[in-house]
Amino acid sequence: MTTETNKNFARPTYRQDDQSEIYLYQPTAPNPDAICIAMVYPAAYQIALSSLGYMILFQQLDMSPDIDARRIYADTLNDHNPKELEFMGFSFAFELDIIKILENFAVYHIPMFAKDREREHPLIFAGGPVPMSNPEPFADFFDFFLIGEGEEMLPRLIDVYRENRHLTDREELIQRLAANVPGLYAPGMYDVQYEGPDGPLASITPKYDDIPVLVEKQLVSNMDDFVASTPIISDKAIFSSTLLVEIMRGCAHRCRFCLASYSMIGPVGSGLPGARGGAIEKVIARIENGIQYTNKVNLIGALISEHPEFSTLCDYLDNKQDLTVSSSSLRVDTLTPQIVNTFKRGGQKQLALAIETGSERMRRRIHKNLKHEQILQAAEMMAKAGMESVKFFGMIGLPDETEHDIELLAELMREIHKNNPKLKIHLGSSSFIPKAGTPFQWQAKISNKQVDQGFKILRQSLQDVADLQASSAKWDYFQAFLSRGDRRLSKLIIRFYELGGGLGSVNKAHQELKAEGLADFPELDWYALRERPEHEILPWEMISLGTPKHILYKEGLPPAGFER
Ligand code: SF4
Repeated sequence: MTTETNKNFARPTYRQDDQSEIYLYQPTAPNPDAICIAMVYPAAYQIALSSLGYMILFQQLDMSPDIDARRIYADTLNDHNPKELEFMGFSFAFELDIIKILENFAVYHIPMFAKDREREHPLIFAGGPVPMSNPEPFADFFDFFLIGEGEEMLPRLIDVYRENRHLTDREELIQRLAANVPGLYAPGMYDVQYEGPDGPLASITPKYDDIPVLVEKQLVSNMDDFVASTPIISDKAIFSSTLLVEIMRGCAHRCRFCLASYSMIGPVGSGLPGARGGAIEKVIARIENGIQYTNKVNLIGALISEHPEFSTLCDYLDNKQDLTVSSSSLRVDTLTPQIVNTFKRGGQKQLALAIETGSERMRRRIHKNLKHEQILQAAEMMAKAGMESVKFFGMIGLPDETEHDIELLAELMREIHKNNPKLKIHLGSSSFIPKAGTPFQWQAKISNKQVDQGFKILRQSLQDVADLQASSAKWDYFQAFLSRGDRRLSKLIIRFYELGGGLGSVNKAHQELKAEGLADFPELDWYALRERPEHEILPWEMISLGTPKHILYKEGLPPAGFER
């Protein structure tokens, strides 16, 4: 990884990168027999540059002489000779990314289905939140997925590949990787049977004895070795000329819907690490290095203010003149006047707080243990510090929610407005989407009609005290059926892609397949909206995020004394 003593590194002369890029590490020219790996980001260059997870893995490869590391973005397709590429590794954060990924296959003449690829084609893999939760709807398109954090998995993958690079049989090569790289899930190595074309899974069986029945997610345990920070600064990035620094990874609060929590930590006693942050001196060293080139710093993490030494970091930041300090969102009950003031001094006019719901009853239901008073105090702290506005994130359609609970969210906004009339309030809201790998993976999602009705209630009850930014019901539905889908959906995905990949074409794709007699999979509502019985075999059951199924199920039940 990057050392903290870097000084304005020489640009690599062996490649044609964007001239505005400032490297904070020393890239290494590849050896003649280096393994050629393209790291692909399925969105534009400016977004990729601000994706810390993608960039640090590229950096890691780029510092090794044994790797010829390339970058590909959705707007730089076609820049490489596909014959040179041995791997293409996709960052896969959102279900809709699949459209850009398939576009990429087409440009590089890679067969869409993994089973149709030859040894000469690059090995196609993906990592990120989508495969970690449920890779199954996309199983037919990838040779393998990396389940977990890549920093330690990638080197292991490369070592095992190097030992087997000579193999001429693609299936045998993938089998060796699947058998020897912990966290590597190769879907083609498993037989999946269904209880009829409209039914759930009947079984998932590895095809070979050396293929794991359960693929365990991999987490780095010592964050001191992997404090992540922007390796390449550019004014073209979405976070223009900004140093992103990771403060915390994972979150131990285990809100029952939260994939960011369940995928990034292990439960107590599992042997997997919990929420992690690097030592504060390592974090500060990263900032010191980065601010030689920029005065903008963004603190990254699901729960940055829970870093045990966060106040030391605030003291450090407070003493830096002219530094702009920002962060995506903070947790209400960890907020202190010092933290708010650090961001205020750092130039922030608004802070974001995820409260999920305005009803204390619902917050208990989802294990978001915030008190009404704590939310009021957080808003007051911001108003006192002179913040212009606050952004809250909320959800509708949570399990056991009533219309009254939705009204309580609006009532809370009204109360905050009354107490702090000068503080502008923004409310971002989406509908609850049950995510695989969380305790709410069995829960039903509300229909599009109910989503629209819920937002109507919210809008009316808000009475103009807050500006509501509501998600699209169609978009939420799209994510919902893929989030809990199985590999039978690959046909639909391909047709959807062929129709241009706009959200409006999902139904058209489905209707066309039905008319052609090819829709041999259940209705989309069956995937998206249905509550699943406890013992149904779930399509993603070959992936273990660390918490056993029976414990997840128990955690998803209403807490003791909860009134429905
Ligand atoms: S506090 Fe936020 S990040 Fe943590 S589990 Fe809850 S929703 Fe997820």
